Amino acid sequence: MGNLDISRNDAAVVDAVLVIHGGAGTILEENLTAAREAACYAGLEKALKVGYALWQAGADALSIVEATVRVLEDDPIFNAGRGAVLNDQGIAELDASIMRGVDRMAGAITGVTTIKNPITLARAVLEKTSFVFLSGLGAEELAATLEEVEIVGQDYFFTDERWKQLQAQRASNSVSLSEDNKFGTVGAVARCKENHLAAATSTGGMTNKRHGRIGDSPMIGAGTWADDATCAVSATGHGEFFIRAAVAHEISARMRHAKESVSVAADGVIHEELMTMGGSGGVIALAANGDAALPFNTAGMYRGVIAADGTLATAIYGKR
Ligand code: ASP
Repeated sequence: MGNLDISRNDAAVVDAVLVIHGGAGTILEENLTAAREAACYAGLEKALKVGYALWQAGADALSIVEATVRVLEDDPIFNAGRGAVLNDQGIAELDASIMRGVDRMAGAITGVTTIKNPITLARAVLEKTSFVFLSGLGAEELAATLEEVEIVGQDYFFTDERWKQLQAQRASNSVSLSEDNKFGTVGAVARCKENHLAAATSTGGMTNKRHGRIGDSPMIGAGTWADDATCAVSATGHGEFFIRAAVAHEISARMRHAKESVSVAADGVIHEELMTMGGSGGVIALAANGDAALPFNTAGMYRGVIAADGTLATAIYGKR
């Protein structure tokens, strides 16, 4: 088993079965309390272990990424599910998407306000409807018919910290992606024992976003992509740029057409193409052979990886 050094901004590892992120941004060591840092590491590790146990039990890749993302959604520290940030109306509006590499089936939802685990609803769109992308009320009406989707009130998402962040953003009249207090989007990419891939991404979006705004996270090809022939990708960053660069699909396209490795393709999109456009963020990308890349062009990205032999690594900050 090779080493799992993911401390760099352009880290690449081998033999990974599951890679996760908890958002990218201006995450600086001096701004994170020791308690907060420990809680982030613990949250990442818990998610990796839940996903790995499923992998060991022979679960399919879709189930692995869904279960892993659910753990991160339930953790108030990350900007998804319970810890989702608030929009300009003080409401948590959630987005999620999921994709399976073996047949490129996908499911996504946007603008839901009552779904405890948006990733599970996205999976239901994939598995139980003939559609790919549902929004708002239509998505919530579907949720009401599904046993596996738990409905909650807005108070479930409301945390003092998110409210304070919204007030700060309102005061400065800005929309936050990468403020120090931003704890981002979550995502997972995994392969099963048969080496099929899947990717999942879930988010509350950006603090003080205009209500109705949709970022890259629920957009197949921008924030999420999976194709067994290339890789599985989940993105985090300034969504408007990720949409215009079709980040997740672009990484796959570079592998497919230019025959680049997963790390060359992911690094090229994050460190070159996005940088040129002025977009900040990162991705996790995993190829079917276990090669993985975790590049980001921000100060930090909450991230983690677990290898086939169970060794795991988590990291927050970066170095070049
Ligand atoms: N990509 C997300 C969005 O633009 C935000 C994030 O990843 O932190 O909605």
